[in-house]
Amino acid sequence: MNDLDHRVLGNKLDLFHQQEEGAGMVFWHPRGWELYRVLEDYVRARMRRAGFREIRTPQLLARSLWEKSGHWEKFGAAMYSLADAEEGRALCLKPMSCPCHVQAFNQRVRSYRELPVRYSEFGACHRDEPSGSLEGLKRTRAFVQDDAHVFCMPAHIEAEVGRFCALLRTVYADLGFSGFKVALATRPAMRAGSDQTWDRAEDALAKAARAAGLEFDVLEGEGAFYGPKLEFHLTDSRARSWQCGTIQLDFVLPERLDAEFVNERNERERPVMIHHAVLGSMERFIAMLLEHHEGWLPVWLAPEQVVVATVSDANIGYAQEVMQVLDDAGVRAVLDSRPERLEKKIFDAREKQVPLLVVVGSRDERDRTISIRMRDGRHATVSFVEGVERLMLMAPTPAMVSRL
Ligand SMILES: [Zn+2]
Repeated sequence: MNDLDHRVLGNKLDLFHQQEEGAGMVFWHPRGWELYRVLEDYVRARMRRAGFREIRTPQLLARSLWEKSGHWEKFGAAMYSLADAEEGRALCLKPMSCPCHVQAFNQRVRSYRELPVRYSEFGACHRDEPSGSLEGLKRTRAFVQDDAHVFCMPAHIEAEVGRFCALLRTVYADLGFSGFKVALATRPAMRAGSDQTWDRAEDALAKAARAAGLEFDVLEGEGAFYGPKLEFHLTDSRARSWQCGTIQLDFVLPERLDAEFVNERNERERPVMIHHAVLGSMERFIAMLLEHHEGWLPVWLAPEQVVVATVSDANIGYAQEVMQVLDDAGVRAVLDSRPERLEKKIFDAREKQVPLLVVVGSRDERDRTISIRMRDGRHATVSFVEGVERLMLMAPTPAMVSRL
């Protein structure tokens, strides 16, 4: 494993570990979980601004639901099942959240006036991947999808796909990726639905993608079993391609799970279901972020944005005052008041790839100043108040980034 493998970085930066008793699962450590939650908060804020309402659905559901949705037939081998002896039926851990979102949609009669209905969920999913295919965070058996579904009419498809493409562009740019390639994946050999339905779905998606100004390659036969999809492939700093975002049109699941709305003519009609993901899997995306940035995450995403280092024990009180103000301002700072030389503290902060360093010594305390050091060696001594303002701009919160 080379130094830039996310497993090596994850160990060096103390983000997470994995062990045999939980093969394909992740034990997140405090710094790693901070990173995870910052990413989640950011995506949550972006989804909300894009018109999605977040929901939460169960992880364990009766197998009969998966049989009805068609997932059991297609994914059954990768689904974890257990017997509910008392009720005499089989339960499955969800491999995806789609059927659950249909259940939420179906809870009352829907009018065409309320469409599109947009749900998002950080869906905790399990898939029984073969042990040989497991690879750190890149392929796990337990993962969280930043999942989202839109229930709409065919007339909405173009606008919804366009809206989602704009969202993807913004998110990828915020996360430090400059470009992506798009592919349209068409009907696979093993599929649900008639050829006529597939013709309609593929045409609608291609048209919507073109209207959104996207150029795309066609991947024949690579679509999901219920509909065609647009795949977004990010290129990382080592010119590797990662499939992340997807938009999938689905005319099948609403039919199987009896989703309907009342149209303008007061008749019952099936909605179109659009499946969305921006990142795909949170775990896999974090692997990609770590490798792409070689551990030097954008400052807003770094689990620890600032190390506040004391020059000597005499400065601990002042350093704690600085810490408190940074904490109140939403800046993620950690205090290094160990009885070590300043050079050692600076070295350790770099080792942990913390992007900003604040040094406080006796002169700073006397003059009410702080000394800010950047990763590239630039540094400045400024007043406490100005320093905090600068740090807030350099180390914004996820909510602030989502409004830029
Ligand atoms: Zn879905």
